[in-house]
Amino acid sequence: VTEFELIARILPSLPTNESVVVGAGDDCAVLNLGLPGRHLLFKTDAVVEGVHFLPDALAERVGHKALARCLSDIAAMGGTAGSAVVSLGLPADRDPAWAEGVYQGLRRLALKYQVAIVGGETTACPHNAFLSVAVLGQVEAGKAVLRSGAKVGDAIFVTGELGGSRAGRHLTFEPRLEEARWLCRRFDVHAMIDLSDGLAGDLRHLLQASHVGAELLTEAIPVSPAAKSAARRAHGATAALTAALTDGEDFELLFTVAPADAVPLLDQWKTAFPELRLGCVGKITSEPGVRLRDRKGARPLTAHGYVHFQ
Ligand SMILES: [Mg+2]
Repeated sequence: VTEFELIARILPSLPTNESVVVGAGDDCAVLNLGLPGRHLLFKTDAVVEGVHFLPDALAERVGHKALARCLSDIAAMGGTAGSAVVSLGLPADRDPAWAEGVYQGLRRLALKYQVAIVGGETTACPHNAFLSVAVLGQVEAGKAVLRSGAKVGDAIFVTGELGGSRAGRHLTFEPRLEEARWLCRRFDVHAMIDLSDGLAGDLRHLLQASHVGAELLTEAIPVSPAAKSAARRAHGATAALTAALTDGEDFELLFTVAPADAVPLLDQWKTAFPELRLGCVGKITSEPGVRLRDRKGARPLTAHGYVHFQ
């Protein structure tokens, strides 16, 4: 059973109530708790030693990653983060300084985005350490950007560069909160998701939620220098493209806007975020599935996103 099959089995049976605007299945839950003009965003995520970080990873980076993953999901809804609670599981023989390091990483990132850490739990855990973070955020009522809003003809955009993040950046990435807020204030973003499972996998999630397909331009895929150099050591240029399409944990934003917004967006982005690349990588189509177009024509993209566990 893959992670996604398991989720698909569990989702339909989850209890709900009248506060739920958007339940499980998007980047965050959207809740209406009666705040005038506001909806709450609610998200939890966990990192596990041996799965999301190696035993020799710096504790501070583990703390950073666990919170940053949640903040990346808040960004993908177009919201702002407010507070977090933390659960830390530690093997009995773990140096207490390791837990302090984790909290240092949490604290630094939380301060940067004005996130309060308002509670938590520390528990023994027999073999591997784990860290689970839940974040509460907010967004203007009715303005949360869902995965399900992509329309045929939309331009598809990706921030940053993709692939090779597991060479190191997966522990140090910056959640795109500021960029997402800027974007949602200025443009009508139809659909958005953050890239945790690879462009190929996460684009499929967005397409399935929106009941549309996509055509990507091979030349427009922003392949990271890390993916290129890893590919040079291994198999060549197609390996770099595959890495950009399927490597997990890039934590960049993937979103769609009306085609008329594409050029103004690119223009304004360059002024607002000169350091961060923004690329139009393709368009939304009525034909389902993902096709990859290069000079030889379009072919179905069969590469799957990174799957966390078997
Ligand atoms: Mg996400």
